[in-house]
Amino acid sequence: MQMAVYKELIKQTFGVECTPLIIAVSKQKVPDKGIFSIPDYLMDYRMEQIKSDQPHIQAVKEGREKPVPCGHCDYCRSYKVLNDVIDIDQIPFY
Ligand SMILES: [Zn+2]
Repeated sequence: MQMAVYKELIKQTFGVECTPLIIAVSKQKVPDKGIFSIPDYLMDYRMEQIKSDQPHIQAVKEGREKPVPCGHCDYCRSYKVLNDVIDIDQIPFY
């Protein structure tokens, strides 16, 4: 999603259609690394998601609607309440 936003901002600002790549390095003692491309269908899907979420995001900014927790970000983790025991093979991977 972040790359879709960057791609759109570059297009709007500079009129350039770019192909984003992610160059990633792990934080392990001996780091792994890789260069990753993002298929067009994923970029398109995420941009459509951003567009469809815009009315809700604006409404949250204006205090007309409550935010929907994602359950994955720093904010959500900081307010996480432990109510359930999860079988280890049911741990959701994000
Ligand atoms: Zn969140």
